[in-house]
Amino acid sequence: MSDTLIRGALIPVEDGYTTTDIQISAGKIVAIAPNLPGTGIEVNAASKLLLPGFLNGHTHSSQAWQRGLIPPLPLELWLADGFDTSASEIEQIYWGAVSTAVDTVLSGGTCVLDHLFLPLGHEMEAIAAAVQAYKTVGIRAVIAPLIMDLPFVAGLPQGRRSLTHKPYPQAAPEILAWMAAIITQFHEPEAGIYIGVGPTGFHRCSDELLVRCAELSDRHNLCRHTHLLETKAQFMLAQERYGISAVKHLQNLGFLDHRTTLAHSVWLEDADLEILADTKSTVVHNPLSNLRLGSGIAPILKCIAAGVNVAFGCDGAASNDGQDLLEAIKLGTILHNLTDRDYTHWITPRQAIAMAAMGGATGVNLAAQTGSLTVGKDADFVLYDLENLSMLPRTDPVQLLVYGRPNQVVDSVWVKGRAIVAKGKLLTLDIEELRQALRQTRDQQSPTNFRTIHTIEPHYRTIMNLD
Ligand SMILES: [Zn+2]
Repeated sequence: MSDTLIRGALIPVEDGYTTTDIQISAGKIVAIAPNLPGTGIEVNAASKLLLPGFLNGHTHSSQAWQRGLIPPLPLELWLADGFDTSASEIEQIYWGAVSTAVDTVLSGGTCVLDHLFLPLGHEMEAIAAAVQAYKTVGIRAVIAPLIMDLPFVAGLPQGRRSLTHKPYPQAAPEILAWMAAIITQFHEPEAGIYIGVGPTGFHRCSDELLVRCAELSDRHNLCRHTHLLETKAQFMLAQERYGISAVKHLQNLGFLDHRTTLAHSVWLEDADLEILADTKSTVVHNPLSNLRLGSGIAPILKCIAAGVNVAFGCDGAASNDGQDLLEAIKLGTILHNLTDRDYTHWITPRQAIAMAAMGGATGVNLAAQTGSLTVGKDADFVLYDLENLSMLPRTDPVQLLVYGRPNQVVDSVWVKGRAIVAKGKLLTLDIEELRQALRQTRDQQSPTNFRTIHTIEPHYRTIMNLD
């Protein structure tokens, strides 16, 4: 890989901004200083803001096919039929991951955590397709296959009347066997591809599966990722099933540690915050999905006050029909001004980008490699075009990036020193190919059939006191 010198970029510093050069060599940042002699390809970064790349800390790439499809329903009700409409063809898995990667990169991300749905019985082909997609686009990716061993209805609070259900078609040993094969074949940190262990959530997982996931993560030093207390129904289920908070239960099982990212975490209680801080777990904030599904407002200001690491995520396109990281950051920043009248606690734009970059890198155990502009770290960063109309007038660029409505402002992106976007265009893939694939494959899909909801809905309405 050739050396690159980025000349004259604006970067935020403690007391404002400064203009500097950045030298990349062998994929790493080797110097940050003005007027570097420099070697290699020279990139003129005048009128460009340079920031470390962000993490899209929670998404489900195959849901790209469910964009604009799911009616306005809470999580439990759309999920009742979710798998009927989810992509299961290998080609769809590939293009779903490409689409997610492209959207992430073009909204400031250099890394994505894909909590990936794998069709039963086709796990190896499906993950191979996603890995191929991420390598093609050139984004760093943590791919945590969604795993579970309890059926859908077992994940609902049962109330006074238990719902009948068939067992889930795969049990923990079988799941762990294909997970082990996936790790052997696809975990490739040098290439920026990391396999994570992703039990879908305590609501769909036996204790045995959760414990074995933690063991697998320990054995191979893999990230752990799970949905946590996304909805009130999940909060009620934890009380019903364990008699203690879900966070306490996960701690008792040994699931929480510095490699653990917890998507949503909307229904946390105050005592949970201390556990998350003590175990160095990360909360992944998905504000758009939480609003779209009416799940609630995650207590992010309380997390920050308690010392819990926080990152941002888009969540899958079934529950956030877009995958724009800057949009998630904006909403996830200003939303909390409603939750605390003391404005001195509000998230500042600079805090927000630090959460998106360093908070994300910390969450996926990559803080030594990425997340900040530091000599010795990998060259994962983004240049934003300050001449773009949405970034003018030139007031405070970071504040405008977070609070504004930045429109196609990503000018250039490097991941591990490889240029993957230049002048706003993807260098690694022809966007027309993606357009064709999304158009054609969508045309071939069978019509949506919402059936299961009719059997779940009366129970859901009863337990949630909606009648
Ligand atoms: Zn999710």
